[in-house]
Amino acid sequence: DLLVNQIAAGEVVERPASVLKEVLENAVDAGSRAIEVQLEQGGVRRIRVADDGCGIARDDLALALERHATSKIATLDDLERVGTMGFRGEALAAIAAVARTILTSRASGSQHAWRIASDEREPTPAALNHGTVVEVADLYYSTPARRKFLKSEGTEFAHCDEMFRRVALARPDVALQLSHNGRVIHRLGVADPLARVAALMGDDFVAHAREVESEAGTLRLTGLASLPAYSRANRDAQYFFVNGRFVRDKLLTHAVRQAYADILHGARHPAYVLFLSLDPAGVDVNVHPAKIEVRFRDSRAVHQFVFHALTRVLGESGA
Ligand code: ADP
Ligand code: MG
Repeated sequence: DLLVNQIAAGEVVERPASVLKEVLENAVDAGSRAIEVQLEQGGVRRIRVADDGCGIARDDLALALERHATSKIATLDDLERVGTMGFRGEALAAIAAVARTILTSRASGSQHAWRIASDEREPTPAALNHGTVVEVADLYYSTPARRKFLKSEGTEFAHCDEMFRRVALARPDVALQLSHNGRVIHRLGVADPLARVAALMGDDFVAHAREVESEAGTLRLTGLASLPAYSRANRDAQYFFVNGRFVRDKLLTHAVRQAYADILHGARHPAYVLFLSLDPAGVDVNVHPAKIEVRFRDSRAVHQFVFHALTRVLGESGA
């Protein structure tokens, strides 16, 4: 079923950044406190992610590379309130189908580490103090047609960097490092949410933004939204997270844009980092494998809440 996996991979593994997303999310799901990412040649040549999470037991290593192997969902019920980033058990299999993939891991309580490569059947002993190292090399080496669609090293790196930023913004409680071709690009210690935003968006953004903090029932919105004085605002500096998951959602974007239009009349490309949290039962994240769309049970209420929260804070005198 290599072919099946390769087809499935088309959906999940578009480019190095999609590999990085899945591997980073797995590291986060594993409860890691520190994650280190090393990229070579925009991630096409190599993506290496080392974490200090729970690890994978020897007997689960081979399984982790197989399709529909997830340790995160046991029943259909779980799907309703999935708290982890992954839950389909498809990502690693898809990645292993299109790139040389090596997992090295030491489960807590294990005597030593084990490793397995995507073309091996049995794990072999390895050296690693804790956690998991995932190495993905030579993306699309066996499918040159796909490989042709990859862009320049700079472009692929930019996509990886963007993916890294999303995870880093969502998880200030995790220390994260990113390096590219041996050069450190981001070194982020554990921080409170606003400090993490400042580290990634710049002090200038924080200085020209309003802090958002609003609550209504089970809905809660926090974060920062730029004022018109923030001139370097651009399309890319718009981050919306729902229950810790980065989303690009029409309804939410609309609510934000409308608040800016109503209150500030100008600010055509506002910059913002916003975190919406709500009862997991009120949102369906199971819409698309790439998982950046969501569906709200009560979309009207969510729209109104976000709109009002922003209008209030942007409208305060001094804006
Ligand atoms: P999913 O995340 O949807 O469960 P994946 O294919 O991404 O599926 O991963 C398969 C399984 O491999 C996970 O369910 C998890 O048990 C294990 N796994 C992958 N990466 C890690 C990691 N960094 N630390 C611990 N376990 C991991
Ligand atoms: Mg996953």
